[in-house]
Amino acid sequence: MSSTSKARLAVAGAASAALLLLAGTGTADARPVAAPDRRPAAVAAAPSYATWIADVTAVTTPAAEYLGRRLSVPGGRTAIVLDIDNTSLETYYSGGITTPAVKPVLALATLAKAKGAAVFFVSDRTEVLRWPTEGNLKTVGYPLDRLYLRPLFNFDPVQTNKTKARAAIEQAGYTIVANIGNNPTDLDGGHAERTFKLPDYNGTLS
Ligand SMILES: [Mg+2]
Repeated sequence: MSSTSKARLAVAGAASAALLLLAGTGTADARPVAAPDRRPAAVAAAPSYATWIADVTAVTTPAAEYLGRRLSVPGGRTAIVLDIDNTSLETYYSGGITTPAVKPVLALATLAKAKGAAVFFVSDRTEVLRWPTEGNLKTVGYPLDRLYLRPLFNFDPVQTNKTKARAAIEQAGYTIVANIGNNPTDLDGGHAERTFKLPDYNGTLS
């Protein structure tokens, strides 16, 4: 072997040793290392409008059947409770100064009112928004007996405030036959005969 060939072999050997060192060991795991997923848990995109309405209707159809039966039972002051954003109004999908009603939920409210129930709205919007919120609900056709909002300078959890509002409705003499919302904080905490959960798509819809 010529001295040139010996030198080439030595260089090749050194390069192989360096590659092994870079690889850590000769049995290094060759699988690519995945970058850590730092996305928040609730980044699931909302589906199309048509899918959302179909998902809403899958809940409001049995809710309407229930209200038809329940509100045919005579006696007592009955009421339903509705969340506003993405329950009563198409906040996520439409927005705007006057946000359109979620049609199947408007139909539920209209049915409940026609059958003698009061219609109460319980929202985490603050008192500052009372006037435009009431205006929006009435403009798009909702019957509205009373609107419960987050009091000024109140920092309690959403569910605490919403549960308190339902307790106040009961104390005023009403039986809440149905509480309809799209987030668990709308519905947890009791004070309703039945709850109906519309989609929030893992928190994507407020
Ligand atoms: Mg909502």
